[in-house]
Amino acid sequence: MTINIGEIGEKDRNSVLHPFTQLKDFATGKLGDPTIVETGKGIRIQDANGNQLIDGFAGLYCVNVGYGRTEVAEAISRQAYRLAYYHSYAAHTTDELAILSDRLVKMAPNKMSKIFYGMSGSDANETQAKLVWYYNNLRGKPNKKKIISRERGYHGCSVISGSMTGMSFYHDHMDLPLPRILHTGVPHFYWGAQPGETEQEFSKRRAAELDDLIQREGPDTVGAFIGEPVLGTGGITPPPAGYWEAIQPVLRKHDVLLIADEVITGFGRTGSMFGSQHYGIEPDLITIAKGLTSAYFPLSAAMVGEKVYEVLEAGADRVGAFSHGYTYSGHPIGAAAANAVLDIVEREDLAGNAREVGAFFQAQLKEKFSQLPIVGEVRGVGLMGAIEFVADRNNRKRFDPMLKVGARISKAARDRGLIARAMPHGDILGFAPPLVVTKAEVEEIVAIA
Ligand code: PLP
Repeated sequence: MTINIGEIGEKDRNSVLHPFTQLKDFATGKLGDPTIVETGKGIRIQDANGNQLIDGFAGLYCVNVGYGRTEVAEAISRQAYRLAYYHSYAAHTTDELAILSDRLVKMAPNKMSKIFYGMSGSDANETQAKLVWYYNNLRGKPNKKKIISRERGYHGCSVISGSMTGMSFYHDHMDLPLPRILHTGVPHFYWGAQPGETEQEFSKRRAAELDDLIQREGPDTVGAFIGEPVLGTGGITPPPAGYWEAIQPVLRKHDVLLIADEVITGFGRTGSMFGSQHYGIEPDLITIAKGLTSAYFPLSAAMVGEKVYEVLEAGADRVGAFSHGYTYSGHPIGAAAANAVLDIVEREDLAGNAREVGAFFQAQLKEKFSQLPIVGEVRGVGLMGAIEFVADRNNRKRFDPMLKVGARISKAARDRGLIARAMPHGDILGFAPPLVVTKAEVEEIVAIA
């Protein structure tokens, strides 16, 4: 198909409301013409002008198996021909859905019992919040509803998930956060440590702050804590040593559920199949999306642990049906896509590739960037990494945000053929290439960056 670039660009500018875009700058052309992305293969995408770009961010950390995987496209097409849709309400299912769910229950960490499906990470976290509230209502604890998230955590942009997100620019002018959602300190050692403090001490201090917050609010009012095993959109920041070991006993002490938001870390990105396994996290609920289908179809899930599910089932005679679900919950095409993607993830051992090629990638990034005078920190785990730029490396001083240093560095990399994302908080260049990336491709990425 030949694309009329001018016509498509004009239609887009006149009619698409683009997410996370300065609307006036786009409307007036200050942001330039829209990039019409036309094809993709492996770790590369191509625009309608024929320019190839290395996608060092796998879309939005989601195209884990890489672009152009015909076996996934074929699985989607087979299912669409056979049965494009049926719902999963009131005990209806499809073979792909039942097979996928059985598979997820078996591969998930920490005894997940049931899988509830949605279409996005945001709606899956919305479901998690409702599950926490429902669970505590059924347990006769109607006040135990507050959910604690972290500053700089990202959990989506719907009403509850957007409230959980701990960055104020996602709340401003949108009447968020909801009063039931609280935030505690971000576990970022580089910025948060006190002079002389070790990572372990810093982690213990963050856990003590969480404990204080729960005590202050009243343990009977706090239902859950949500966190990404590795902070993603808030700056690709692995937890400091001892963080999850210190946090979890606090939650157990106060009977507070732990929701692991594995939307980015699920399915191999850290080098383990789940971030929870990587960091010894024992969640009660797990959120997955992105890598589940490698973005070949929108599919997400709230994985429900045994402890929570048992209460839901035991309460059913009293409260009736579990009245929550989307038209597209358990969509059969999504399930078929996920099964085909998980076949690849397992067959090609993409978690192993993220571990091995990821270690090489982290070493390369550190070698090239960590000593530069404008670089404060190079960090990451597996195939997620970040370079944080600072104005003064010795005194840990940020650049003036008006200078938009991160965005300019990202733009310069893009002009050289590499997508590395300017993270929305701070001057941070983020990397999360598809998990199929090879060492040779990593060398190419680091050489361009
Ligand atoms: N949770 C995490 C950890 C995410 O990174 C994201 C998106 O980047 C979400 C939730 C929201 O997912 P979605 O954009 O599919 O709603």
